[in-house]
Amino acid sequence: MSKIDRKFVDAFGQSPDIVAAAPGRVNLIGEHIDYSDGFVLPFAIADRTYAAIRKRPDRLVRIASAQRRNKIVSIQLDDIKPGLKGEWERYPLGVIWAMGVKQGLDVMIDGHVPLGAGLSSSAALECSVATALNDLFSFGYDLQSLARLTQKAENDYVGVPCGIMDQSVSLMAHSGSALLLDCRDLTSRYVSFDVASSGLELLIIDTQAHHSLTDGGYAQRRQSCESAIKKLGVQSMRELSFEKLNTSKDLLTDIEFIRARHAVSEIARVHSAVSALEAKNFVELGSLLNASHGSLRDDYDVSCPELNCAVDASISAGALGARMVGGGFGGSAIALIKASATIDTIHHVENTFKKLSFKAPRFFTSLPSQGAEIMQRG
Ligand code: ADP
Ligand code: MG
Repeated sequence: MSKIDRKFVDAFGQSPDIVAAAPGRVNLIGEHIDYSDGFVLPFAIADRTYAAIRKRPDRLVRIASAQRRNKIVSIQLDDIKPGLKGEWERYPLGVIWAMGVKQGLDVMIDGHVPLGAGLSSSAALECSVATALNDLFSFGYDLQSLARLTQKAENDYVGVPCGIMDQSVSLMAHSGSALLLDCRDLTSRYVSFDVASSGLELLIIDTQAHHSLTDGGYAQRRQSCESAIKKLGVQSMRELSFEKLNTSKDLLTDIEFIRARHAVSEIARVHSAVSALEAKNFVELGSLLNASHGSLRDDYDVSCPELNCAVDASISAGALGARMVGGGFGGSAIALIKASATIDTIHHVENTFKKLSFKAPRFFTSLPSQGAEIMQRG
């Protein structure tokens, strides 16, 4: 019996009908542009969240998580509506609501993606539940529809205005590749990202600094983009060229201008990063990561001292490039480093954090991994 099976049986007294798993993600480059119809280049990490589900003969929904002491939350299906107060269970309930489930369920969650570290444990949770439900009820949603539905769950049910990237990559990723995702229509292509055979490693540094996308900073950034595109008469930042941005500078406030400059330059960097990966030019990739960080720190203003420290310390330890990832204001940074330098880089970052009296960071490494999968039926 697998671990999640045992947890399910302990909580609900029977075996699950289905178990699905979905990974967290790291976005190599293309930050804060998914909601601007931009391109992003994420990959799935090996850590994943498992969802075990069993149909019930009634309309009761019971949910528990191993990361929440297996405490069972119970609710009638008809009471699952946006705006309902609650805690973590709103993520799976949002998915049940968005997918239009019409039957009671028992749900057990076991997540191995660090929570709130900028590695998208929320998308891993939503996508594991959505993948299991899609199979269990033979809904027949394709991966793009599942991405839209899980995003709807997080936006409209949980109330977090996240973009579409996290759910898309958690559902669509292939091992050994990054996913070049067009956030306008969700078309994608896989770009080989074989760090290991080049003697490189991608170090993920969780700064453990406060990270909550519901704080308002994220919503403010989106608002700046919205107001800038309205003033410039374009549908999204995607349609904005450097030229138009520069010649229209007077129409924008200083803040709107630099926010827009981040979006336009970041979209260009994603395309350059794809070319660099295809040419296996990791030095170029590294400098694009550095430029992305500079733009997020200075123009978009979503970094924080711990993230800047993680980036600067990695680079002074010899990293080819580094940048903050995720929404910002805390969370994780990534550094592209020589695999042989992993231990030294970790020590250097740790020591620098200690000197500045920051909370000790956590470190992960991960190769690009597979997206959501059904692990077991019956
Ligand atoms: P991130 O997605 O970067 O990890 P978020 O704040 O978006 O950070 O999502 C983290 C939240 O998702 C947690 O606070 C919790 O409510 C929920 N969550 C994620 N994974 C689990 C899990 N395994 N069990 C319970 N809740 C989870
Ligand atoms: Mg999240």
